[in-house]
Amino acid sequence: MIVAIDGPAGAGKSTVARRLAARLGFRYLDTGAMYRALTWLALEHGRSLDDGAALGALAREYPITFAQQDLVLIDAVDVTSAIRDSRIDKVVSSVARHPEVREVMRERQRELGSLGDVVIEGRDIGTVVAPGAEVKVFLNADEVERARRRIAERPGRAADALATDLRLRDERDAAQMQAADDAERIDTTALTIDEVVERIEELVRARQPA
Ligand code: C5P
Repeated sequence: MIVAIDGPAGAGKSTVARRLAARLGFRYLDTGAMYRALTWLALEHGRSLDDGAALGALAREYPITFAQQDLVLIDAVDVTSAIRDSRIDKVVSSVARHPEVREVMRERQRELGSLGDVVIEGRDIGTVVAPGAEVKVFLNADEVERARRRIAERPGRAADALATDLRLRDERDAAQMQAADDAERIDTTALTIDEVVERIEELVRARQPA
């Protein structure tokens, strides 16, 4: 079974998807980490972030791999923490907007998603990567709450700079981020992580054979 979890940054996707996967015994696939890893590599290689063809070729040449569930590797380098850096936050959408990049990423995501029960989180999972997913959820939360969560995750960075980064990223990501018509929309603003996980778990249980 595929559980697709989409939504903007700060909606709670990662925490919820990770916890849900652990509870269900499913694998977890963080597609944002893949775009982040490619962005990291492009900066390392000094590639222009405007050159979609070159970035697509880079993505094809250096497939992203996951190890021990949580480690993200590209070109044999463990980039797990480097990809959470603010320099990546600022430009990842510029890399992710290129169709050449998205084509390679989506191919790889489908490959990784086809290995069995999995929770996949991203922006376009329920719509494009896995439109046949048995369970689709679109998480959202109000802008102030999303900024507050981001600030808590990134201690040491100025709150107003983080809120601005989030707003800019929302704008740039808008083109690839839509809820699927058949997605269950959950507003997480006033919900705890466990409450959100439980709601999705109910949807999963309802789809599982008795
Ligand atoms: O989910 P996360 O915030 O780590 O994603 C980082 C960026 O990767 C997003 O802002 C978006 O630009 C891109 N992304 C995407 N499609 C996905 C997942 C992430 O375009 N499925």
